[in-house]
Amino acid sequence: NNVVDDYAAANVAQRCLDLISKPLELVGRKFTPSCSIGVAHFPDDGADLQTIIKAADTALYAAKDLGKNRYSFYNKALTEKAEYRFKIEQYLREAIEKQQLSLVYQPKIDMKTGSIVGVEALSRWNHPILGQVSPVVFISMAEQIGMIKPLTEWVLKTACKQSVVWSNAGYSSMLMAINISPIHFLDSELVSLIKQVILETGIKPSELELEVTEGVVQTTQDNLTVFEHLKELGILLAIDDFGVGYSSFASLKHLNVDYLKIDKYFIDDILVDNKTKHLVGSMIEMGQNLGHKIVAEGIEKVEQLNLLKELGCDNAQGYLFSKPVSAEQFLVLLSNDSITQGKSDTNAL
Ligand code: C2E
Ligand code: CA
Ligand code: CA
Repeated sequence: NNVVDDYAAANVAQRCLDLISKPLELVGRKFTPSCSIGVAHFPDDGADLQTIIKAADTALYAAKDLGKNRYSFYNKALTEKAEYRFKIEQYLREAIEKQQLSLVYQPKIDMKTGSIVGVEALSRWNHPILGQVSPVVFISMAEQIGMIKPLTEWVLKTACKQSVVWSNAGYSSMLMAINISPIHFLDSELVSLIKQVILETGIKPSELELEVTEGVVQTTQDNLTVFEHLKELGILLAIDDFGVGYSSFASLKHLNVDYLKIDKYFIDDILVDNKTKHLVGSMIEMGQNLGHKIVAEGIEKVEQLNLLKELGCDNAQGYLFSKPVSAEQFLVLLSNDSITQGKSDTNAL
């Protein structure tokens, strides 16, 4: 059973309900029509016409029982799931306005010097009823409901303002990396949004980095143009989750990106699987030969760090150094310099 399908069906049903229940005037009197909708799945709920119509009819009566002017799936669990999603969706629409979103920052370390060279900004959503919702859930939902642009705009402005605060506090030339959804990356307005954020916040373009997953690294002319225009602004670009997504080596040749970020998936296996070790070694060498710097993410063990160092990796990120932390906590990390004294080969913490 396809979750996206169920959700799409619920979405269509909800839109029908919304349209039908619009108040209207008939011979001078106001009416608010209502209806109930039953949803059945082919072939799960019935493999032939008669059975599936029967299932839809049963679902329709379930919808009426549940209080009319609503939809119901034949499979009750699906109704609950769809309702839960709609609820989150509704909450998400208000999240920015109600200031429920926040950012945490995870340091990136220079492997050679052991010092902090930048941070990645990661979004958090704390809802009064739902509690903490994982960014994996709410980012993909934001993409689906057309909220990713306002959300990214909020992230960009908040993170860049923060970066300027740190810079003014004496911690300059640190990179602020921000994740951009593939959908948004290819949006024609992204370049002007970035320009506007740079102007508004005063961040130096050379201190702003955008992380974008491999999905957009296909070499269509449109994609290449976005990359070029962004580079013209003087900002840095990174390919996120490198190695797990879809991208051809051919496309790397055309792209002017500064960093390749090797996915945690590889780092997890690097100590136990020789093939993975060779793969990572080759990625580092190839990437560097093509003029990219290499970041490894998700480093949790000193042994992983040491091996990656041996393989010549440039930058490191992971719980070994620090989990993503609030802006205040990050300032403590920076100021007590526990990471930045080059001790990372023996004890990174
Ligand atoms: P990502 O961009 O690959 O970010 C790395 C994720 O790995 C983060 O999870 C981070 O907290 C986690 N991580 C870092 N080091 C370690 C480690 O050593 N061990 C383990 N187990 N995990 C580690 P998080 O914050 O839950 O974010 C998940 C994903 O959600 C991100 O993956 C990114 O794709 C997306 N995301 C988060 N914030 C944003 C945002 O503001 N915009 C967009 N478009 N996507 C975002
Ligand atoms: Ca990232
Ligand atoms: Ca990743």
